Amino acid sequence: MNVYAQRVLETLNSRYPWEKEFLQSAKEVIETLSKLLDREAKYEKNCILERITVPERIIQFQVPWVDDKGQIQVNNGYRVQFNSAIGPYKGGLRFHPSVNLSILKFLGFEQIFKNSLTTLPMGGGKGGSDFNPKGKSDVEVMRFCQNFMRELYRHIGADTDVPAGDIGVGAREIGYLEGQFKRIANTNECVLTGKGLAWGGSLVRPEATGFGNVYFATEMLATRGTDFDGKTVLVSGAGNVAQFAVKKATAFGAKVISMSDSNGTIIDNDGINAEKLAWIQNLKNVKRGRIREYAEAFKNVQYFENARPWQLTKCDVALPCATQNELNADDAKALVKNGCICVSEGANMPSTPDAVEALQAGGLLFGPGKAANAGGVATSGLEMSQNAMRLNWTAEEVDAKLHGIMKNIHAAARGAAEEFGEGDNYVLGANIAGFRKVADAMIAQGI
Ligand code: NAP
Repeated sequence: MNVYAQRVLETLNSRYPWEKEFLQSAKEVIETLSKLLDREAKYEKNCILERITVPERIIQFQVPWVDDKGQIQVNNGYRVQFNSAIGPYKGGLRFHPSVNLSILKFLGFEQIFKNSLTTLPMGGGKGGSDFNPKGKSDVEVMRFCQNFMRELYRHIGADTDVPAGDIGVGAREIGYLEGQFKRIANTNECVLTGKGLAWGGSLVRPEATGFGNVYFATEMLATRGTDFDGKTVLVSGAGNVAQFAVKKATAFGAKVISMSDSNGTIIDNDGINAEKLAWIQNLKNVKRGRIREYAEAFKNVQYFENARPWQLTKCDVALPCATQNELNADDAKALVKNGCICVSEGANMPSTPDAVEALQAGGLLFGPGKAANAGGVATSGLEMSQNAMRLNWTAEEVDAKLHGIMKNIHAAARGAAEEFGEGDNYVLGANIAGFRKVADAMIAQGI
């Protein structure tokens, strides 16, 4: 590894030993920049690694709210404004009990490079709360969102920071957050993306991350002269990203046989067709039920409690779309052994570092999340553009732009990998392509 890269990693390890997710993502990015750092002395001279690994600003606040029994509850709220060198901070809000600063720093750090890859002018940020929307009434979720925004509103703005959804923050939560922002700030500026269509949202934003992941995987498969048609696909998760990855992979001729949630996985060897997917969307988005219920509703379906899909059966393509570190080295080895040819990450950092190593060593095409799932934030960027122009593009227009962006991201990641003699190492390629633009902007803008 480049000596400068090693030194910065050692400093991060000693400064933030408790931030394991952030250190995991920083290590992955910094290690793969070695060849670039060997070639270009300007990044060390300008202390870019030292600066890019420390958020420009972290906001942490208290979110008190009252539950349906009249009890006062208190959660932690956060916004990590990581890097604004190429545009306003942009990145989702996550509501999940596991949320802490390490997880938000890892997500915000990844977001810097992902947003850079989209070619749109967006900096990197991330935020959220340890609030758990699961099991809460709609009114409780509304009260929480209103109190969360009561503090967040003063830190965001159309040209400052534009949050969006993530795990636990879907259309319902974005609606409550947007409503409260407008009530307090008295402006209709675009401070959130993922909005409803009638109030400033973009067509194809809900679909964008899942669709984009399948577009990216299609580009990878094309380099080996193949595509989704006739392939068997394993998908994890049953949320926003997973639902639309299933939809697009199926539209491209694949048979998707699994989906999962944090309790277990269903395997449906007949394939999750459009009708069954609509049933899952109603289960997850409206009834807020568990994936286990799918096995009770449809014939010939197996349910595996507390299991992830990767070792349960064979597949040609795997699309992890649930959460971080949900595909480990044993899972990766099973995928290799079972003849899988492509893993494309819909979620952020779903594969552990040793899983990535095993997949690459096994000769699989591996698309890292910061490239493969960038379609969501790219379409959020398109929502910002439409809001600024006070125009709405058609679904066809947005989808065509999304498709073009995913092709460009693939070309940029692959091009950078080839430039450094690393073939189809998309991890290295995406990191170098994303980093270079931000780092050069930081140098141009001075200390
Ligand atoms: P979501 O709609 O809330 O769905 C998340 C899914 O993952 C659910 O099925 C959930 O199951 C499952 N899950 C969550 N935590 C889990 C855990 N610890 N173990 C196993 N399963 C778990 O969220 P999403 O928007 O689809 O996001 C999924 C992933 O994609 C995240 O990594 C997110 O950061 C990433 N991502 C999202 C977007 C976007 O536009 N939404 C863009 C880029 C990247 P339960 O229902 O049981 O919780």
